[in-house]
Amino acid sequence: MHTTEKHPIAVALLLGGKGTRLGLEGIPKPMVEVLGTPLLEHHVVQLREQGFTNLVFLTGYQSNVIEAHFGDGSEWGVQISYSVEAEPLGTARATRAALPMLGNEFVLLYGDVVCDVDIARFVDQARENGGHGTLVVHPNDHPHDSDLVVTDPDSPRIAAFLNKPHAEDLRTRNLVNAGLYYLKPEIFEAIPEGEELFDWGRDVFPKAVEDGYELYAYRSAEYMKDIGTPARLQKAQRHILSGSVAARSMRNPQRAVFLDRDGVINREINGVHKPDDLQVLPAVGSTIASINQSPFLTIGITNQPDLAKGFFGFEDLDAVHAEMDRQLVEDHAFLDDLLFCPHHPETGFDGEVAALKRVCTCRKPAPGMLINAAQRYNIDLSRSYMVGDRLSDLVAAEAAGAIPVLVHRNGEKDLPKDARVAHPAKHVAIDLAAAWEWIKEDMG
Ligand SMILES: [Zn+2]
Repeated sequence: MHTTEKHPIAVALLLGGKGTRLGLEGIPKPMVEVLGTPLLEHHVVQLREQGFTNLVFLTGYQSNVIEAHFGDGSEWGVQISYSVEAEPLGTARATRAALPMLGNEFVLLYGDVVCDVDIARFVDQARENGGHGTLVVHPNDHPHDSDLVVTDPDSPRIAAFLNKPHAEDLRTRNLVNAGLYYLKPEIFEAIPEGEELFDWGRDVFPKAVEDGYELYAYRSAEYMKDIGTPARLQKAQRHILSGSVAARSMRNPQRAVFLDRDGVINREINGVHKPDDLQVLPAVGSTIASINQSPFLTIGITNQPDLAKGFFGFEDLDAVHAEMDRQLVEDHAFLDDLLFCPHHPETGFDGEVAALKRVCTCRKPAPGMLINAAQRYNIDLSRSYMVGDRLSDLVAAEAAGAIPVLVHRNGEKDLPKDARVAHPAKHVAIDLAAAWEWIKEDMG
């Protein structure tokens, strides 16, 4: 088991919700029963298990119900402080009202979300990022009606925060605000003054990013879902019972299906440099949607040497990936992450980018991207698969200790030349759909 070292950092929980759509009477939304126990009690137990014992409850509506249930928290082995809003302030101002209890850094969690997140891992990364804070983000199958986060094309720094509704023709990566933040108190300076309610997602983050506050995105494939309606609540209960909520927590080792991009996800042509060049192959969307529903993470791993060669730029690549996300989500599919190597070892091209012209540890057949992903997502590589159409994909998989699977480029009949030689694939399939069928049999 993981260690339960105590974390002194305060975890604040936003608990002011009414739960009108859940039809709750006499209790606030975070006290809704999930499998017979109030949702908030699930949070408290889970936080205690992870060593977070300094809890700040930001309450308002029917605070007395919460206070009567938890008291000072000693029954659960935690210390609970209360900050009760007399009238609704909005999530940002309610948080600011608790400032004396929050210290010089804090975690903020929405109390009406069912989740199982490795919060210590998140805090470690957020501290490394620095700046004013880090927001947990994830792709989902309905980004068009979610609040979207846009990062720099070559770093996790947040460049824009876009509230729904979105313009029909908006093209961004599928990255949604999940409702878990690590913040420094300096972010409170970004809260506008005035009488209206101020909400983190609706009001503060969009403006803070515009005003140059330094916020970062932290990608997570962990389960985080709002339970705002009876249907969503029932679904979350099913997911808890099936074990899929705990299974996705990075507290536990993960399994992944790594996917090469060109020739496996999208049609390989001579250089995919703009969104119009990108065509997701047949049956790939529905296959990835199926992987998304399984215990496996889905992570793209791609060499993009044309960046180093100066054929296109990071922003062009990001636009291509936004188009890929758009095509995938038509089938309710998404990649949990997509890692790319921008390097190329040989110099001598006109217009090349000198800084990217080097021997690196990430360019396949080197295993760097798989190893990096494994560290970031706590992936057990020996129980993970890499699906590729080139010898370099298979060699990278083998070097990382993952299981190599070869597919025919673009699903074509003939194997490409470089894969006709002796290769380490454990299985050969015509395309990703067939490879996934085999993985499901092989996974044990
Ligand atoms: Zn590289």
